[in-house]
Amino acid sequence: MTLPRHFGPFGGRYVPEMLVPALDELEAAFLAARQDPAFNKSFDELLRHYCGRPTPLYPAHNLTRHLNGCHIFLKLESLNHTGAHKITNALGQALLALRMGKTRLIAETGAGQHGLATATVAARCGLGCTVFMGEVDVARQYPNVFAMRLLGAEVVAVADGTRTLKDAVNAALKEWVQHLPSTHYVLGSALGPHPYPTIVREFQSVIGREVASQLQTLTGRKPDHLVACVGGGSNSIGLFAPFLDDREIRLYGAEAGGRGPAPGEHAARLQGRPTTGIVQGYKSYFLQDEHGQIQGTHSISAGLDYAGIGPELAWHFQQGRIQFSAISDDEALAAYQLLARLEGIIPALESAHAVALAARLAPRLPKDDLMVVNISGRGDKDLFITARALDEARWRAFLHSEVHRDQ
Ligand SMILES: *Cc1c(COP(=O)(O)O)cnc(C)c1O
Repeated sequence: MTLPRHFGPFGGRYVPEMLVPALDELEAAFLAARQDPAFNKSFDELLRHYCGRPTPLYPAHNLTRHLNGCHIFLKLESLNHTGAHKITNALGQALLALRMGKTRLIAETGAGQHGLATATVAARCGLGCTVFMGEVDVARQYPNVFAMRLLGAEVVAVADGTRTLKDAVNAALKEWVQHLPSTHYVLGSALGPHPYPTIVREFQSVIGREVASQLQTLTGRKPDHLVACVGGGSNSIGLFAPFLDDREIRLYGAEAGGRGPAPGEHAARLQGRPTTGIVQGYKSYFLQDEHGQIQGTHSISAGLDYAGIGPELAWHFQQGRIQFSAISDDEALAAYQLLARLEGIIPALESAHAVALAARLAPRLPKDDLMVVNISGRGDKDLFITARALDEARWRAFLHSEVHRDQ
């Protein structure tokens, strides 16, 4: 048995020959693990006792009243260990690595969230861990770099190219090829070469399964509308997966509209006329220039600041199954403050994009409809961005006083 390799025309596996055996080994291990009650039991137990699952489904009465439209429920992935949904996938892949007899995890990371999740599960599972990060990102992301090292991971600052995420990806792939027998490469979103998009979706679809049963318990109904932010696509496909076949349920994705529609100012890959490409091992829609070079991107949220999108989401976009909207930096910041004030919940800036989209949609929907918004992460990690954007003078004064503090 194998997993499907393509989602319509998207997906596939475009990698150097040397990586093919490792990807086949991973697929076989995943297929076997799925059928193995012992694997499922240890995954479920760690999700419950270590990660904090099931995460709450919270009826947001204040937000509902404020928007004066449909009922809004928040899926609080923000209450997972390490603060976001990413730990679920990292844990699943760490257990697969143990099953394959690997002794070490490697990962690449931009802002550090996926590196942090990987370093965390490596510590828990007794695996070595090396995280590749562009030199520029290492300098910008001190809190996550500090935490990864505290967790026992080696953080490698990559000095090639633009010294950012894509250079870290290349360095991690090179390392993987050189250490295939001992090392598993943990991919952090529902993208990359087959079988990663499917494995990540399957691990994250616990989000959607929990929502289905929690909403049933709370209301006796299924949802009418599901909203999630879309970087690579793991929290969104994880929420949507169990509901894809039910056409009565509307699915909405929020992309990073950044500072506006000019090239390089956003990461809204599915607005305007999206263009297909093959990058980092898979076929999908990518932001690119007229020569097919990957375009620079911008978003206030690091997790949405990516030129590509998972191949399964590209397919559902093409089929019209999921509707995608661009949310600007300013709208996301406004939604971030709105949720803090109304519900006492400070979301990650990524998740604030989903809140902003919900705020756009809800007032126009029937009052009896049920909407679930995925709060993919909590906002602590964004302090350096949000404090500067919303309270610059006091933030700078604080940093200044810290630098000059004697003890
Ligand atoms: C990484 C991240 C995202 C974006 O990644 P997806 O794979 O699209 O889910 C969204 N929210 C948070 C909090 C993240 O850390």
